Amino acid sequence: MMRNDQRNLYRQPDSPYDVWEMERDSISQTEEVDCGAVISSLQLRPALFVPNFEANLPGNMYSTSMTVPVPEIVDRQFEKPLLCGPGPCDVWPSVAEALTRPVLSPMCDELFNVFDDLRAGIQYLFQTRSKLVLAMSGSGHAGMEAVISNLVAPKETILIATRGIWDERAYNISKRYGINPIVYRIPCNRSFTFAELETQLKRYRPTALFITHGDSSSGTVQKIEGLGEICHRYGTLLLIDTVVSLGAAPFFMDAWGVDGVYTSTQKALSGPAGISPVAFSARAEEKINNRKHEPPFYFDIKLLAKQWNCYGNTRTYHHTLSSPLLWALRCCLREICQETLEKSWERHARVTEYFHKRLQQLSVSCLVPNPENRLVTVVTVVLPRGYDYLKVINHMIEKHNVRIFPGLGPTAGKSLRIGIMGVNSTFQVADTIIDALTDALQSLTKSSL
Ligand code: PMP
Repeated sequence: MMRNDQRNLYRQPDSPYDVWEMERDSISQTEEVDCGAVISSLQLRPALFVPNFEANLPGNMYSTSMTVPVPEIVDRQFEKPLLCGPGPCDVWPSVAEALTRPVLSPMCDELFNVFDDLRAGIQYLFQTRSKLVLAMSGSGHAGMEAVISNLVAPKETILIATRGIWDERAYNISKRYGINPIVYRIPCNRSFTFAELETQLKRYRPTALFITHGDSSSGTVQKIEGLGEICHRYGTLLLIDTVVSLGAAPFFMDAWGVDGVYTSTQKALSGPAGISPVAFSARAEEKINNRKHEPPFYFDIKLLAKQWNCYGNTRTYHHTLSSPLLWALRCCLREICQETLEKSWERHARVTEYFHKRLQQLSVSCLVPNPENRLVTVVTVVLPRGYDYLKVINHMIEKHNVRIFPGLGPTAGKSLRIGIMGVNSTFQVADTIIDALTDALQSLTKSSL
């Protein structure tokens, strides 16, 4: 039975659809029916409640209307590879277990408790005290689309600092929302200097600057500390993609003046794809609250903030979230809280440094010459002339069950992309990859050179 104060949780004062409130009331009245009496009345007439489907629905009843026959969906056996590409990465064993936890209904206390846990974990992860933090239903692109579409209005300008493929995605998304994107491109094997970025900010005074912290297509990391201050001097919001860096490389949203940020679960957080934490600064919040444009309903942060109870006074329904993904994200956050961010950053740094040392013993080189520009999670490796990248990749999966990826976007055909992150950021995994790569290079020398 629902108490009156609980009923108020469902009220949406902004909504003109009062009819829903009436229906809510009638639902709670129904709940006051004596359930015991109903059940015993059902038990008196069991035959009514055991329908004989076969008798009522003969197999040929619809046969003339069926144009698509029953497909044969067989049970597929699939040996899990060691996932060492730029993502997805393997999941923590605890996350695999969390994915089987019970389904949460969209308006139960347990769901709102999970939201509270997630928001606390996400604040820690981004290192922000902002209240406007939540997770988008969808993979990293959902975070990207939500951050851009909520913070930049049609006809406003977004400066896109481009060195890989994710900036191109930001460009395409901006175009679709009628935003004016300006691309500032540098070679993919390095990151931006602040002087370069400031020149562009001065020139265009854009509403927002979009830049990736870690770029998984090029294997580069961008320095962000101090960039917020520069952006704010020109009235620009700083929007950051941390999909492949968060949890593995230091990131301080508040201290670095970041205004809109998103990440995803399937990289260094070692969870399944499909749920993407986002956070907004006070500046961004002001923009969201005073905006004149309407972002897509599904990505509307104003509405989602109510569902996620960001300000502690609303618990509403916006859409049904995937319970397995909520449990999984909660578990990823617990894992990182148990280890602590500092220890996770150190572990990633030490393992990747070791991996680079072992790479130096092979006849390969790094695409990113300056070690300071190298991303800790994804290493881009250039093979000696004559090797076929795809053959090396196929050898590693077929002979060693180690999955690495080819280059993408600007690095397509020019490098391998090897990911060592999250649960896979260990010396043992680094050795396994090097052993498999060594064997691939030795086995393929004659055939592909
Ligand atoms: N940004 C970066 C840096 C990424 O590496 C990726 C995915 N590889 C994305 C965004 C897009 O994320 P998703 O595939 O989860 O939509």
